[in-house]
Amino acid sequence: MAFELPALPYSTDALEPHIDSMTMTIHHGKHHAGYTNKLNAAIEGTDLEGKSIEDILKNLDMNNGAVRNNGGGYYNHDLFWKVMSPNGGGAPTGDVAAAIDESFGSYDAFKEKFAAAAGTRFGSGWAWLCVHPGGKLEICSTPNQDNPMMPGIGCEGTPIMGLDVWEHAYYLKYQNRRPDYVQAFFNVINWDEVNSRYAASK
Ligand code: MN
Repeated sequence: MAFELPALPYSTDALEPHIDSMTMTIHHGKHHAGYTNKLNAAIEGTDLEGKSIEDILKNLDMNNGAVRNNGGGYYNHDLFWKVMSPNGGGAPTGDVAAAIDESFGSYDAFKEKFAAAAGTRFGSGWAWLCVHPGGKLEICSTPNQDNPMMPGIGCEGTPIMGLDVWEHAYYLKYQNRRPDYVQAFFNVINWDEVNSRYAASK
């Protein structure tokens, strides 16, 4: 059974003005669709066919560039759409709010650290909030479409929030101003979703 491009959980203009409709349309309909199709082509007829994407990423042969890039791209974007919401933003809620205070000191300190991880990733990649067994949180970043679940990535734990910092994610609206895009992301974070992923992963 092939992977399918997941539907966006909101309309393409729902995250305006923070993320513009044209970017969402292309990002989901072209980029994410492309990763999905290329992932299917890469696993067709191999023993990866029929496995869950989590299973594929956790047991990945890192030398398999097609599955690494497109499997990561398929999973990362699905998570990205879900951790944003037109009703998002503001301070975190629930258990993850307490964990953020415990792991980083405060929500403001968390924002600073996350923005730094997103801002200093050279070239294309992602910033992540990951949870370790027991509930401790960690912020890290990965290049390209790598994901913390991949083996030996040096950015471990279960990712419960991810921010795409490829130029395709922000260039139409923000051009070279990645820090402005990162700040805008804080206005659309779906903390309910992050919180339920935290509860399921800690
Ligand atoms: Mn992307």
